[in-house]
Amino acid sequence: MESRLGRLAIEALFPRFCASCKREGSLLCEACEHQWMPAPPLASCAFCGEPGSDRTCADCREHVYIDGLTFFSPYGNPVVRELIGHWKYQGDRSVESIFQGCLRRAALRLSPPVLPFYVTGVPLHEKRLRSRGFDQADLVAAWAGELFGIPHETYVRRVHSTSPQARTSHDLRRVGEMDGAFCVYPDVQVPDHILLCDDVFTSGTTMDAVARVLKEAGAKTVWGFVIAKG
Ligand SMILES: [Zn+2]
Ligand SMILES: [Zn+2]
Repeated sequence: MESRLGRLAIEALFPRFCASCKREGSLLCEACEHQWMPAPPLASCAFCGEPGSDRTCADCREHVYIDGLTFFSPYGNPVVRELIGHWKYQGDRSVESIFQGCLRRAALRLSPPVLPFYVTGVPLHEKRLRSRGFDQADLVAAWAGELFGIPHETYVRRVHSTSPQARTSHDLRRVGEMDGAFCVYPDVQVPDHILLCDDVFTSGTTMDAVARVLKEAGAKTVWGFVIAKG
């Protein structure tokens, strides 16, 4: 267990700096936390970028399962990118309350299309969950559930592990690689409309592989929800 003294020692050795104004203290200082908000992304198809709607365009719908994507910020935003890096790769969980606050402040523009949604996270492989100690997709799902007042459930599990998404180059990831990576738990009743959460959406291959098993199990709508889109 981490004592208060131990924590102070760690903070002295590895001080945190505000990702926005670089002041020492926390990963997003109090002043920035209240002012900072990335520019809202323009609505476009998450797969090909066709502008106009965050719903997957008619062309892409022919080969993907995700119906649309809502995201808080482009991954290119330097503050968001830095916060996600601290969270995912350095395990700094102080990022969580920052993102939770951000989502709350942006709730109006982030609310999912009006349907009776259930919320779930893209499952992390057990091995990775053990090494990291927390599941960021499931946390995003819990925040979304709380924010929009929708039930948070688990439907899918990961059956074999793949390399961490943000570190794999775009062209190395192909739909085929994710084939068979997920399956719906036996005896689980999959609802009609699901809000599928993750921290980052890069090519969408992982999220789409989950959407596929959910749809094969009876889901009619699978809408993506992430903090950042690459
Ligand atoms: Zn600041
Ligand atoms: Zn498209």
